[in-house]
Amino acid sequence: MKKVTETFGSMVFDDRVMKSVLSAEIYRSLKKTIDEGAPLDAGVANAVAAAMKDWAVSKGATHYTHWFQPLTGITAEKHDSFISPSPDGSVIMEFSGKELLKGEPDASSFPSGGLRATFEARGYTAWDPTSYAFIKGKTLCIPTAFCSYGGHALDKKTPLLRSMEALNKQALRVLKLFGNDTVKRVVSSVGPEQEYFLITKEMYDARPDLRFCGRTLFGAKAPKGQEMDDHYFGAIKPRVAAYMEELNEELWKLGILAKTEHNEVAPAQHELAPIYTTTNVATDHNQLTMEIMQKVASKHGLVCLLHEKPFAGVNGSGKHNNWSIATDEGQNLLSPGETPYENAQFLLFLCAVIKAVDDYQDLLRISVATAGNDHRLGANEAPPAVISIFLGDELNGVLEAIENDTPYEGAQKTQMKLGVNVLPKFNRDTTDRNRTSPFAFTGNKFEFRMLGSSNSIACANIMLNAAVAESLKIYADRLEGEEDFETKLHEMIKKTIKDHKRIIFNGNGYDDAWIKEATEVRGLLNYRTTADCMPHLLDKKNADMLTAQKVFTVAELQSRCDIMLENYCKSVTIEANTMIDMAKTQIAPAVERFAADMARNAAAKKSLGLAISCDYEKELVKKLSDLTDCIAAKVNELQTAVASLGGAENIIAESVIIRDCVLPKMSELRAACDEAETITEKSYWPFPTYADILFSVR
Ligand code: ADP
Ligand code: MG
Repeated sequence: MKKVTETFGSMVFDDRVMKSVLSAEIYRSLKKTIDEGAPLDAGVANAVAAAMKDWAVSKGATHYTHWFQPLTGITAEKHDSFISPSPDGSVIMEFSGKELLKGEPDASSFPSGGLRATFEARGYTAWDPTSYAFIKGKTLCIPTAFCSYGGHALDKKTPLLRSMEALNKQALRVLKLFGNDTVKRVVSSVGPEQEYFLITKEMYDARPDLRFCGRTLFGAKAPKGQEMDDHYFGAIKPRVAAYMEELNEELWKLGILAKTEHNEVAPAQHELAPIYTTTNVATDHNQLTMEIMQKVASKHGLVCLLHEKPFAGVNGSGKHNNWSIATDEGQNLLSPGETPYENAQFLLFLCAVIKAVDDYQDLLRISVATAGNDHRLGANEAPPAVISIFLGDELNGVLEAIENDTPYEGAQKTQMKLGVNVLPKFNRDTTDRNRTSPFAFTGNKFEFRMLGSSNSIACANIMLNAAVAESLKIYADRLEGEEDFETKLHEMIKKTIKDHKRIIFNGNGYDDAWIKEATEVRGLLNYRTTADCMPHLLDKKNADMLTAQKVFTVAELQSRCDIMLENYCKSVTIEANTMIDMAKTQIAPAVERFAADMARNAAAKKSLGLAISCDYEKELVKKLSDLTDCIAAKVNELQTAVASLGGAENIIAESVIIRDCVLPKMSELRAACDEAETITEKSYWPFPTYADILFSVR
C-alpha cells in the first residue's frame, strides 16, 4: 500500500502540480489571481486549462464538470466529456480556457426563489481559482460560483466569497490603525467537526421513513440508549474502523485534511474533524466529505445518516464550526498576543465578535435553520435556540475589569490605558469544556455549535463574516483619524462590553432557568423554529447590514428566505405523508393482526373449556383496539392538517401551518404508534426497531 504522504492530494490540481506542469510565467499569473484576485487573461486561462486537462487525463479522467453549490444544500455537477472530433474520425481530448472559466448550466432547474422570474432564466458558473480543481471518479471537478446573468448569486459560494472579502476589507482597516501596514490579506478559516450515524443497509432499506426522510418518524425508545456513556470515545468496532480507514484514504486523495475521528455520545454515532483551512475551501471540503461519507458507507454495506435527528431520545448530529481570522503573515487575530498593542488589538477583534453575535443573533439562528435542525436546538443535548457566547472565567474577568475600570488581578504589572496591558496566557485546555454553549471561545477561535450535521457551512460563515465585518467597519470609522487613539480605543472597547455583555453567558446553556433569564431578563431572542426565524432575514436591520457589506442584494435575501421556507414546508410535508402511509399500511394492520390473533387465542382457550378468565388477552386486545382507533383518528387529523396547507396564502403562512398544525399532529400520531410498538409482539412489528437499528453495526 502507498504511503499517505504519497497519496495525499493525488487527485488535486494543487500548487505542487501547478508548479510542475505550468511554465514559470503562467504559474506566476495564476498565483496572482489566486492570491490577490487579479483577473486572468485568455492566454493564461487556455494554458492552465490545457495543463489541467492533460493532468486529469493522465489520472484517468474523461469528463469535466463545473462543480457548484446551488441553494438546494447539496452540490451540483453536469458532466461534459473532453472529447472533440477530429477530421479523420478519431477524437482528441480538448479543454479550453473558456470552458474552464465559465459554464452555462440550465439555471431553471435549480431553485432561485423568484430570482429567475424577476430577472432571467439563464445562469452561469464561474471558476473559483482559490479552491483547487480535483478528480472525482472519472471527472475533473472545477469549483465554481453560480450566478444569474443579471448578476444575482444563485448559490452559496458567491455570498460566502463576498463575505470573506467584506471581512478582509474591514479587518485591514483596523489592522492599519494598529500600525500593521504590511498585512495584505485577512482571511477567515474554519475547521468543521462533522457528526454522523452509521447503520446497516438492511436496517435502512427496511424503513420507509429512513429512506424518504433520512430520519425515523416512529420508534419506541430502546431499552438501552446512551445512558451509560459507553459509546463516546469508546473502542471503534472493526466494521466501523474499516469504513473510517477507507473514508480517510478517499478524503486524503482529495487533499482533505481528515484528522480526528471518534465515536460520539449516541450509539452508532461518530465524528470526523479535519484540520482547519480557508473558509471557502473548508466549505467545498465539507460538502465533499459528506458526499464521500455516504459513498464509502454504501461500499461497506452501511448507510451514513447525516440528518440532524435520525432517532428520538438519543443525541442528534451537529456540526461544530470552529472559526478564526488570520492575516496572510500567519497572525491569528483571535489569539491573545505578547505585547500590549497586540493585546489591545486582540481585545478589539474579540469585541467585534461579541458585538456581531449580539447584534445579529437572528441572522446566526437563521443561518442554521432547517426542519431537521429544529429538532436539535433546544432539546437537552444540543445548544439551545437562544444564542449566547461563552468566554470562560479568565477572559470574562478581563472584560469585567475593563468595564469597571478595576485592575484585573491576573494582569501583570505594566499598565496601559486599557488597564490590562498584559493578558494572562490562556491555557487552551482550560478555556472551554463547556459543551452547552452555542458560541464558545476556545483559546484562539470561536466554536459555533448550532449548525446541523447536514447543513452547508456556507450560510453560517456568510453571516458570521458579514456581521463581524460590520462591527469592524463601525470601529474603523470611529477610530480612523483619531488623534488620541488609545483613549478612543479604550472607550470603544468599554462601550462594547457595556452594551453587549448580555450576550455573554458562562453557565449551563441546557438549563431551563437560563432560557428564562435570557429571554425575560436579558432580552435575547429565542426563535424555536425555522418558521419563527426565517422571515426576519428581511428585517431592515439585517437587510441594511448585508447589503451595505455587499454580501447579498435585497432580491437575493428574499429568494433565500423563500427557498428556506419552501424547504422547511416540503421536508415536513414529505415526513407527514410518509407517516400517514406507514401508519395506514404497516403499523395499524400489524397491530390489528396481533390483536386478532390474541382474540383468537382467547376464544380457542374458551372453546377448549379451559374457561379461565382470559384477562390477559382481553385487556391486551382492548388496549390494542383502543390504540388502532387512536392511530386511525390521528391519521385523519394529520391528513386534514396536510390538506389545509393548500389554503395557505403564501409560504410564510404555510410554514406557520406546518409549525402549528402539521408537526403537532405528527407527534400525536407517533405517540400512539410508539405506544403500540411497546405492547405488540416483536415478530408482528413491520420494520426494525430502535434496538435493532442502533446496535446493528457490529
Ligand atoms: P474538539 O472536539 O475538542 O472541539 P476537535 O479536534 O474535534 O476538537 O476539533 C477542533 C477543530 O478546530 C478542528 O477541525 C481544528 O482544525 C479546528 N481548529 C483548530 N484551530 C483553529 C483555528 N485557529 N481556526 C479555525 N479552526 C481551528
Ligand atoms: Mg471534536
